[in-house]
Amino acid sequence: MSTPEPAVTPASPFLKAGRKQLLIDGTWVDAVSGRTFPSINPSTGRPIAEIAEGGAEDVDRAVTAARTAFDTGPWRHMRPRDRQELLWALADAVQANFEELRLLEVLDMGSPIGRGRAGAAPAWEADVLRYFAGWATKIHGETLPNSIPGPVLSYTVKEPVGVVAAIVPWNRPISNAVWKLGPALATGCTVVLKPAEEASLVALRLGELLTEAGLPEGVVNVVTGHGETAGAALTEHPGVDKVAFTGSTATGQQIVRAAAGTMKRVTLELGGKSPDIVFADADLARAIPGAAMGVFANSGQTCSAGTRIYVERSIHDEFVAGVSAFADRLKVGNSLDPETKIGPVVSAAQLDRVVGYFDIGREEGARTAAGGTRVDAGELAGGYFVAPTVLADVRDDMRVAREEIFGPVACVMPFDTVDEVVRRANDSEYGLGGGVWTRDVGKAHRVARELRTGTVWVNTYNLFDPAVPFGGHRMSGWGREMGRDALDAYLDVKAVWIDTR
Ligand code: NAD
Repeated sequence: MSTPEPAVTPASPFLKAGRKQLLIDGTWVDAVSGRTFPSINPSTGRPIAEIAEGGAEDVDRAVTAARTAFDTGPWRHMRPRDRQELLWALADAVQANFEELRLLEVLDMGSPIGRGRAGAAPAWEADVLRYFAGWATKIHGETLPNSIPGPVLSYTVKEPVGVVAAIVPWNRPISNAVWKLGPALATGCTVVLKPAEEASLVALRLGELLTEAGLPEGVVNVVTGHGETAGAALTEHPGVDKVAFTGSTATGQQIVRAAAGTMKRVTLELGGKSPDIVFADADLARAIPGAAMGVFANSGQTCSAGTRIYVERSIHDEFVAGVSAFADRLKVGNSLDPETKIGPVVSAAQLDRVVGYFDIGREEGARTAAGGTRVDAGELAGGYFVAPTVLADVRDDMRVAREEIFGPVACVMPFDTVDEVVRRANDSEYGLGGGVWTRDVGKAHRVARELRTGTVWVNTYNLFDPAVPFGGHRMSGWGREMGRDALDAYLDVKAVWIDTR
């Protein structure tokens, strides 16, 4: 089957408009500098849109708009049920336009169009917004006993923290945006959303949908641009109360330093090098594809990818053969081809980085059991494709076993005992996800308890739900997204004392 080119893909009026602007205070405007940068389709290496290159002045205008909307606008004091209605309207708009949003995601960062999310509804991100819409009416403080003599009442009120800078990466643009917009809007915060320079289109289309859904001007502003300019200006701006960041650990550390100057609140969803443990009693017919797609889905560009696969020694060789055969069967191709299972990685820089790790692994003594190459034959020549790769004979101290590659690369390592594998799984600077494959329920609970990670999946991998919190320990970040736990990061607690005499 020959792969369709963007010019003959289902029409997206948004894409046809070509040049994109910033959304500031409800109005679409060019960057003050007038500069733009191209958005590249990683399947072809060709530009698909021109994006406004926002800088410090644009950030200042956007923060001022968000500040004004928070301090003086109707938003903060809107009745919770009205805010709930608006979030539902936004969710409906996301659902109604989901095909287009997915197409933008596919063209902008290369996620395969046929991709499904395990067990999830097709327009899963609309459900995330509906989940947080429900919370808008359920945020409350408490009446607290105190030991002060006399009739003195004390109670707490939960208040929105204020202006949120939502800085997101490119790996799942729809999810990256709604995981932050949902709790921010449910709690009554205002937002400046800064998408990644590699994939800005979804955030810009969401900006249109937010306006159509009836959100007041300035409540959500979208500033596209580069991290070191627009992103840095946001984290330093005194008008921002909180930074909600998803991205690399190195950038997270810069953000913490920058935010310290004004003592902003910071939540961080960062990198990972997650362990996935396969015991000899596992159902291999499930464990092999499950562990494989726990790494290879989205071309390995998932923060919680289970990239360190520990396999009990008695089944190690069988597992390596099985997972390698599975990897070899996955179709690598243009992300618009419905048959594609492995699309491109996001950029030429990411391609170089992943291919560089193949060399590092070989030099360290790892054996390439599947893949290990760029894929650039025929019509894939201009794109950034990598074969799903299985590295065997990997040792814990190798760089390929310790560093986040963010590409479709699985490292497989044998183990002998439960104590040993738990110790090795926890021996990482990261602590985001973890997996266990076993039929022994006691062993499953024990390992789930002992893994020092924010999430453990048993006999499955990378399941997500709006009601279930997600986030990391150690270098994988601070705080949680989704679930009730996500709300606290967007709320302040005020104590009120009343002497009733
Ligand atoms: P990145 O840190 O380079 O960029 C992420 C965002 O930060 C982009 O919008 C970028 O423009 C901005 N940015 C860059 N430098 C900045 C600065 N100095 N100040 C403010 N903003 C800045 O991340 P990346 O490499 O593009 O994304 C991949 C990383 O994201 C991986 O490490 C991955 O594990 C992580 N990630 C984590 C999660 C999670 O939930 N834990 C989810 C997705 C991705």
